[in-house]
This record gives sequence, structure tokens and C-alpha cells, in this order.
Amino acid sequence: EPLFSAIPMAPRDPILGITESFNADQNPEKINLGVGVYYDDNGKVPLLKCVQQAETMMLEKAAPHTYLPIDGLPAFNTAVQKMVFGEGCRGFDEKRIMTVQALGGTGALRIGADFISRFSASSHIWISNPSWENHRALFEADGFTVHTYPYYDGETRSINFNGMIAELKSMPSGSTVLLHACCHNPTGLDLSDGQWDEVIAVISERSLIPFLDMAYQGFAQSLEADGRIIRRFADNCPYLLVSNSYSKSFSLYGERIGAFSFVARSADEATRALSQVKRVIRTNYSNPSRHGAEIVTTVLSSPELYTMWDNELSDMRSRIRQMREKLAQDLSALREDLDFSYIITQNGLFSYSGLNKKQVEQLRDEHSIYAVDTGRICVAALNSGNIGRVVKAIAQVL
Ligand code: PMP
Repeated sequence: EPLFSAIPMAPRDPILGITESFNADQNPEKINLGVGVYYDDNGKVPLLKCVQQAETMMLEKAAPHTYLPIDGLPAFNTAVQKMVFGEGCRGFDEKRIMTVQALGGTGALRIGADFISRFSASSHIWISNPSWENHRALFEADGFTVHTYPYYDGETRSINFNGMIAELKSMPSGSTVLLHACCHNPTGLDLSDGQWDEVIAVISERSLIPFLDMAYQGFAQSLEADGRIIRRFADNCPYLLVSNSYSKSFSLYGERIGAFSFVARSADEATRALSQVKRVIRTNYSNPSRHGAEIVTTVLSSPELYTMWDNELSDMRSRIRQMREKLAQDLSALREDLDFSYIITQNGLFSYSGLNKKQVEQLRDEHSIYAVDTGRICVAALNSGNIGRVVKAIAQVL
């Protein structure tokens, strides 16, 4: 039989599918809230000033495009580790933490999944219900059985924390648990400090392996505050896996830049594990690309550019917050019968708007406004020019 003749069509990616329909829409007033990208108030993906300056500096150096080491740019890995784990994390001095450059957050998850699938006695992983739509497929591709733990309670529009803890307590030891470090995608709901304490206690009691996915550091409270959770896990669990991404926080989507880190119990364990992580990389893509890593390293290692970045990130965060407040306020004005306060308590780029599939279809068909079927809308795609139309349309379909 010819090689490709029996290949079935793969299902369409739900998010990228929305963009395809959006692009085909002829309405000049169309609005895409289905994306996972930060837009500025002019509806443009920003080029951060700190990035532009770093690139100017890089261009002036006119350096050749040599290969990077398998695990990436050493200065990048060191700078990222400090940022993700916070200065003075105990694991640093004990040389138990290793960080490797990755192709965005997805690439970091892929390295982590490949690595643990080879060395963990358990092939079971739990992700939140719901979670980023690629988590399940990504781990299944490595032979994991993917389970879910309760997370979102649609009735109260809050976290089903008791359900989550009960599920954690039922997992066999050695299982991996994927957690969103902040700005949970898609719900925008994050655990409180006290709830994290309980989660950490159960995870260490039951010898589960925590895998923290941090795609949005800096979008909840601040770089420092959002990163603190990583440090708390690192200080309290013998093992920890972390993926982090600079796609959103540096607006470097297409550069595919992020990192995978892990914490082991000893320097010796960490060294052996790193040698295997490098094999994973070597057999996948040999070594990562340079440009994004050099931009991030240039910014993180210059106090002046770092401050500039911190301010630009803080501006992005404030703009999203303003949009949340306006969305909630203006919706409340049109629909006094409904409570929209949940929009304000959510963090990050997204809001779980409470729209059902039918209402999302209505938004699309009657208003050319595109959202994800689950009702997830990207608040970071709202701006002073389009929010009025969005509010009216949502108030109408609800
Ligand atoms: N994890 C989560 C929770 C995400 O929302 C995303 C996508 N924004 C990623 C990982 C992947 O990030 P990247 O685009 O850097 O691969």
C-alpha cells in the first residue's frame, strides 16, 4: 500500500482554526479575541524598546552566526535561572538546579516530557481541568497517560480547590503533576498563597513530581512576585521541573525562546540528569537558535535595559487590568442583572467569560467577534477602539 494513502486528516487546532476563520471574514470591523497574544492599544503586537535596543547593540557587534552549545547560550541559562528561581535560592549554591535554553515554552515542555518519559517509573501525568489545549497532546505524544484534576468550577466561577486537593491525595506516588505557575490558561484563576502551601504539602507528602509551567511571568503581579512560587517549590520538594517562556513577557513570539529547568536532590544527580537532557536535545534539534537568547541575555544582564523591560512589562500588565475593569464596568451598566466581578479577579491575558459555545457562535456569526468555544477571550486583544463594540455584542448574546 502506498505510504500516505491511509493517512487520516488530523483534527484542526482549535485556536489556530479561529484565526483561519477570522482571516477569511470580510467584515472590516471584525475582532479576534481567540488569540493568546498581547496587543497594544493600537491593536499591534509591540516591539519592546528594550528588545529594539538589545538588537541594535547586537547588530553593532556584527558577530558570526556560530552554533550554540546543545543546552544553549550559557549566559542565557545563568540569567534565566536567577530570574526564575530568584537570587539566593538554596539549590544554586548546592548546584542542584540546571537550566537549558528551549524553543519557547512549548519546547521546554517537550524537553521535560521527553526526559521524564525516559527516566520516570510512572507514565502518568495530571493536568488541570481545563488546561492549555496543547498540554494533553504534548504529553500523550511521549506515551504518558494524561489525567485531569478538578480546577475550574463553572457554577461559582472559582477554583474547585477541595476537588483539586482530593485528587492530588489520590495520585500514586511518582506521578507527575502539571501546574500553572501564574495566569492560569484558560481560566485566569490562580491559587492563593495559602492554597499553594497546601498543594506543596500534599505534593511532597505523596512524593509527586511537580512540573510548573510559567508562560506568563510578570503578567499577574510582577516578575518578582510571580516567580516566588517557583522558589517555594524548589525549597520544599526534592524534585521540580519548570518550563518558562519569553514569548509574551518579551513579545518575542516568533523567536521561540524559553527555558527548561529542573531541581535534583544533589549536584551529582543534577549533573547526570543534565547529561540526559542534553541527549534529548541533541536527538531532537541538536542545539537551539541564537537570536532570541541573545536578546533576552542582553536585556537581563544590563541594569538599564532590565529596568526598561520591567517598566514595559508593567505597562502591558496595567493595560490589561484597565481593559478588565472597563469590560466589567461597561458590561454591568448594560446588564444590571448579571455579575461581572469575576473578570477583575482573573489574572493574565485571558478571561473565562462565561460565554457558552452557542453564544460564542452568535458573537462570530452576528458580530464578527471571534472567541474560543469554551468562552475564553483574550483581554489583551481589547483596546480603546474595539472594547465598546465587544461590550455591546457580549451584553446582547448573554
Ligand atoms: N504554556 C502555557 C500555559 C501557554 O499558555 C502557552 C502558550 N501561550 C505555552 C505554554 C507555550 O508558550 P510558547 O508560545 O512560548 O511555546
